[in-house]
Amino acid sequence: MASGAFAESGADLELVGIQKRFPGFTAIEHLDLTIPAGSFFALLGPSGCGKTTTLRLVAGLEDPTEGRILIGGKDVTGLKPYQRQVNTVFQSYALFPHMTVLENVAFGLRRRKIADPVEKAHEALRLVELDHLAARRPQQLSGGQQQRVALARAIVNRPALLLLDEPLGALDLKLRRQMQLELKSIQEEVGLTFVHVTHDQEEAMTMADTVAVMNKGEIEQLGAPEELYELPKTAFVANFLGQSNLFTGNVSGSTSTSITVDVEGAKITVPTSRAQRHTGEVTVGVRPEKLHLHKEEPKKVAGTNSLGPGRIIDVSFSGVSTQYTIALPGMGAISVFQQNMTFGPLAGEGAEVWVSWDV
Ligand code: ATP
Repeated sequence: MASGAFAESGADLELVGIQKRFPGFTAIEHLDLTIPAGSFFALLGPSGCGKTTTLRLVAGLEDPTEGRILIGGKDVTGLKPYQRQVNTVFQSYALFPHMTVLENVAFGLRRRKIADPVEKAHEALRLVELDHLAARRPQQLSGGQQQRVALARAIVNRPALLLLDEPLGALDLKLRRQMQLELKSIQEEVGLTFVHVTHDQEEAMTMADTVAVMNKGEIEQLGAPEELYELPKTAFVANFLGQSNLFTGNVSGSTSTSITVDVEGAKITVPTSRAQRHTGEVTVGVRPEKLHLHKEEPKKVAGTNSLGPGRIIDVSFSGVSTQYTIALPGMGAISVFQQNMTFGPLAGEGAEVWVSWDV
């Protein structure tokens, strides 16, 4: 992709002690957040957790009840949206239907009397690989192309901060996946700070350097995608970033490197790096893809946990893998993902099976 004048870096964003109350409802309890300049940051969480409210506060479309917002070290709390170097891309593209693609992208530059609007618009369109369609009108473009025009329009004036509110929500799954990779590569190229709001965990993990998982107006955990996935601090984060099998039991022993948890008569070994200083009742989470399925009771081997026998109550084929749902007596249902290395399921519904995983 083309670069050139777009190589400027973005600004960092700081939210300090932010609270946002609406009449009768507190949307943001307390938010402290620092987003480094030039990063691709995702705010991830379920509907109603306060993601859009956070973006609207940064954009200046809402004022915080308490707290301060700093962009590039400058306190912008209370400033009008146009006084902040911030642009927002929404799910709805909101392109002007009577203007060409080029005019749509150049419009804001012209209105602000910025020099060389046409040249700059072409450059932004080259960046999103749409310059060849500059003369078309929005209705002559596909949904993905319209979204790219909206993106070109948002980056053409090189904002310090680009806010993206579910920008890919209206696209079909395949295009959405493609656009995720494109957006990421555009962000790397322009070096601006992107703050992306989504409820799609896969989208957040694919695109962002850092993900903040929001729940009920607060950040529950913040970190790199791998860190959140492998070391979730709460059951909410574990479940929000993909499926997790959760076992609740009591700690019955410990060594310097692990603890033993009694779950319905079975003993599960958990490395202490993940469960240091835990005593009493604990919840152990194991991802479905870490589990192995056995048709016979596996031999007890040090460094391996096993549970069973259970019974397969559902088999769900999804191409690359098959999801087995297994009822384990006293523990409820658990999920196991197995790669489809051979044709046909490992075992069918009703079959007796054991599961194991490496400690
Ligand atoms: P979604 O993914 O569904 O867009 P979200 O995480 O972006 O959800 P917000 O739009 O930030 O959620 O809303 C957070 C909470 O604040 C919701 O419970 C919402 O109903 C409430 N809320 C948002 N705007 C207002 C308002 N103007 N007045 C009262 N409550 C509001």
